[in-house]
Amino acid sequence: MSSLSDMPAMVEILPLGGFDHPLTYGAKPSLYETLQIGSLVRIPLGVRRIIGIVSSLSPNHSPPLDKLRFVSTLVQPEPVLSEELVDLAKWVSNYYASSLENTLGAMIPASVRDGMNAKTRKMIEVVSLPQPEVEQLLKRSPKQLQAYSLLSQQRGKKMDAVSCGKEHQISMAIIDGLIKKGLVRKSMDEVNREAYADQWSEEVADIVDALRVLTSEQKIATDEICEDLSKGKFSARLLQGVTGSGKTEVYCQAMEKVLGEGGGVLFLVPEVALAPQTVDRLRARFGTRGEQVVVWHSHLSAGERLDAWRRLVKGEARIVVGARSAVFAPVQNLRLIVVDEEHEQAYKQEDSPRYHGRDVAVYRAYLNNCMCLLGSATPSLETAHNVDCGKYKKSTLSQRIDGRELPLVHLVDMRRETLKQKKAPVLSQQLVEALRQRYENREQSILFLNRRGFNTTMFCTECGEVVQCKDCSIAMTYHRTDHYLHCHLCGYRKPAPRVCANCKSIEINRRGQGTQRIEDVVESVMPRRAKVVRVDADVMTKKNLFREILRDFRQGKIDVLVGTQMIAKGLDFPKVTLVGVIDADLPLRMEDFRASERAFQILVQVAGRAGRGDRAGEVFVQTYAPHESCIQFARRAELDEFLEDELAMRKELKYPPYRHLVRHVFRGRGEEKTRFYAEQWRKKLDSSNLSGIEVKGPAATPLAKMKGYYRYHLFYLTSNVQKCLLKIYANKMDFPMDKEIIDFIDVDAYQVS
Ligand SMILES: [Zn+2]
Ligand SMILES: [Zn+2]
Repeated sequence: MSSLSDMPAMVEILPLGGFDHPLTYGAKPSLYETLQIGSLVRIPLGVRRIIGIVSSLSPNHSPPLDKLRFVSTLVQPEPVLSEELVDLAKWVSNYYASSLENTLGAMIPASVRDGMNAKTRKMIEVVSLPQPEVEQLLKRSPKQLQAYSLLSQQRGKKMDAVSCGKEHQISMAIIDGLIKKGLVRKSMDEVNREAYADQWSEEVADIVDALRVLTSEQKIATDEICEDLSKGKFSARLLQGVTGSGKTEVYCQAMEKVLGEGGGVLFLVPEVALAPQTVDRLRARFGTRGEQVVVWHSHLSAGERLDAWRRLVKGEARIVVGARSAVFAPVQNLRLIVVDEEHEQAYKQEDSPRYHGRDVAVYRAYLNNCMCLLGSATPSLETAHNVDCGKYKKSTLSQRIDGRELPLVHLVDMRRETLKQKKAPVLSQQLVEALRQRYENREQSILFLNRRGFNTTMFCTECGEVVQCKDCSIAMTYHRTDHYLHCHLCGYRKPAPRVCANCKSIEINRRGQGTQRIEDVVESVMPRRAKVVRVDADVMTKKNLFREILRDFRQGKIDVLVGTQMIAKGLDFPKVTLVGVIDADLPLRMEDFRASERAFQILVQVAGRAGRGDRAGEVFVQTYAPHESCIQFARRAELDEFLEDELAMRKELKYPPYRHLVRHVFRGRGEEKTRFYAEQWRKKLDSSNLSGIEVKGPAATPLAKMKGYYRYHLFYLTSNVQKCLLKIYANKMDFPMDKEIIDFIDVDAYQVS
């Protein structure tokens, strides 16, 4: 007979492996006592044993089911997720249509899942005993006696066994002998492997002090934010500040308040490698008073990540700076989440779970009843829309600190340059002259080129016309295989034109400029002694090299820095007085309805790099489309006007942020088969009731073949993601998908290739 107390309690587990919904297990009373929400456990599943996370506990046992299986073991004593993070995991998995396994995998560092231990080192301490006793113990071991008297000089001090042995030339065997005899006490201490611990920039301290006096706008913004914080409720606020307006100082003021009240802070940046100045500044500001700033990013070693994780869980560190995955960092008593450069597309994860770091940040703030502060000089349309409809509040910094002027922006019409030079040049004459002038004045320049797109869209170098889809208002993609232009949103196609529909010119082409050559071109037009350095993706993979280049540039050893948008973000060089944008309208030729937004953001951000010191800056923007409104708005730094214009356009087409864009990708080895199933799926959808969902496609992706797979996709425009997903799932139930075709769903899709 089993008594009631022997009855198992029920536990809900989120499995990591195989299954994609919570499972119910029993737990023996002795084990149940040790479980908490967020505990990592081992469970039997089929013939396997997998790990899982406890997501709910019910001590009031329901009658045990016949087939009830039991939790095997608890993997480690402390929970690996807080209750709030368990809830967040469920939400991310549901909303972004990603498996629980992938979601939990993104949230819990692999080293924690594997139950890896903290790195420890052996510490020793001499035990004091009366001299006769010592002599008695060591009378047959003169070497141990000698070692003991050497070590006794450090009596009462804990020493690292390895370094102490080296210092006194005592072998580990002798130390172990002393430990055995009880003359030396051994202990294991945790070692912190801290990323970037040795990297600290010298100039930062001065910068920090110089920025302490707030401008009146900074003061107002700080007050507004602190008032939100005082309420201890969920709130989201946009801090909209022109480049150089001192947003970081406002973040720091908010952090001061939160830390002063015992709270924790999560500080997200689009890419940690691009934010060394932010990290340095937070360290300089908060590190000196004993606050640890944990840097969290994908380049951490397993050990570093584990240590960072442990320091956060224990509450030893209360500030995390990191890229999107840091949104899941286990900060204790989280009171503030800062999302810097919230408009950056880098916040969107392009593998499962395909979450958006900014949006998850807002939801996490909601779960924690705390504040999410979104900062940008060029807010995303999504955030601007949320401000418009009252979901987010807004604080504005419209002036640069110290009242410095925004730089003067010149548009260079490349259509005219092309006529003048009888070919499409890389650099216009005006930009070349400006570069030479800066060199003579001992000032610095930055040349910016947009990242190459797939460069398979067509545009006219005489009038700047880009061939667009008649229905979708996006650039069409040229396919080499059939010489047709395809719309990759709706699938519409037409033959590639031979003349420009706008001006009848035959100069319509699909050539871009050879960006590799730009460094050479710049060198060829500059005086021989000028130093030109290019920053590209290769440089970025070598983190220290990038830092070195930035340091050299800051110290004036480089005259012209050439690079992609990585040099547009957040960098602050006082001696830069000229910024050249080589291909401002390239985003407009991309196959994306966010093209104008991207072009505008990049231009404003890049222009913001000029004139950060005491000398005024100048910007030259080369474009084939000077008439485009986004370029005109950027030239005049008219943010509100741009947002209004662009929001109106999106509203008319019912694109995000007015509806959600859900992308459904079909992927397979055979092109015919992949297309066939995508088309069959569309037919299936058309035959079912899809009220409230607009379906576009299928269409080939702009990059039709990737890593050996052909890809076709459909787009769903909907105002309710949950309903849309449910309809897709319901239709998939009886859709005979081929085993060789893999499909996935990307909610709030950004990448369209
Ligand atoms: Zn034309
Ligand atoms: Zn279309």
